[in-house]
Amino acid sequence: AATDAAGPVAFVTGASSGIGHATALALSHAGYRVAVGARRVERLGEIEDAAPGVILPIELDVTDAASVVGAVARTLERFGRLDVLVSNAGLMLNGMILGADLAAWERMVQTNLLGSMYAVHAALPALIAARGHVIQVSSTSGRIASLGSGVYSATKFGVSAFTESLRQEVTAQGVRVTVVEPGFVATELTSHLTDPAMRAAAAEIGDSMRTLQADDIAEAVLYALRQPEHVSVNELLIRPTDQV
Ligand code: NDP
Repeated sequence: AATDAAGPVAFVTGASSGIGHATALALSHAGYRVAVGARRVERLGEIEDAAPGVILPIELDVTDAASVVGAVARTLERFGRLDVLVSNAGLMLNGMILGADLAAWERMVQTNLLGSMYAVHAALPALIAARGHVIQVSSTSGRIASLGSGVYSATKFGVSAFTESLRQEVTAQGVRVTVVEPGFVATELTSHLTDPAMRAAAAEIGDSMRTLQADDIAEAVLYALRQPEHVSVNELLIRPTDQV
């Protein structure tokens, strides 16, 4: 890995696979020093091997506010600044409302919604100091709910509401806020589905179209970050061309 040369710093939550992993690598290629957080730390080591720049792997559970605070503190200790937060950690456990396992609902709210809020809360002082940028990974499900995705959608709608409020609060301080809303991306997201009908539906969607790849979303994140200071890309909705 490269040395600790000066340069902008990003912190990516949920970087052990999928969109977070691809975004961390893309940020490294773009010259960022990148702190990467997730529960599966061994997977974060792989980013360190593949990235051209400095990577700081951090064991992180976004459902634990203290873990999030600790991760931001370690990032600042190591790099002295934080320019970009990519709040990406999330999980999808779809199923019908009737008879649903409430533990699945709680995990989604704690991870996708509260976890994302904790990350913003912990990172905000440093982001304000850096006139930085918050990238929130939401979903098409943050704009349109569908059968079986009520709770997942509620968390993603919640992310959008929180983010618009954040935008109004920090825009005068030069902090930019972007919500990224991907359609179907081929990642490990659907591997956590336990409901057989939901698993089958996800597999069918995946097989029936040219899905997005995690790199496509990383590219969108970089687009938002590359804009000149007076341009704030607030929302990016990206579907596979084949997705209705
Ligand atoms: P993956 O399952 O591949 O990645 C999810 C990431 O989140 C993993 O790195 C996982 O790491 C991390 N994560 C989950 N729970 C926690 C936790 N408690 N603390 C810290 N990290 C956690 O899926 P994607 O890459 O697809 O998902 C990334 C984001 O993109 C999610 O917010 C998802 O909702 C969103 N999204 C995905 C779409 C898709 O079609 N794939 C479409 C639209 C949005 P670990 O398990 O190691 O902790």
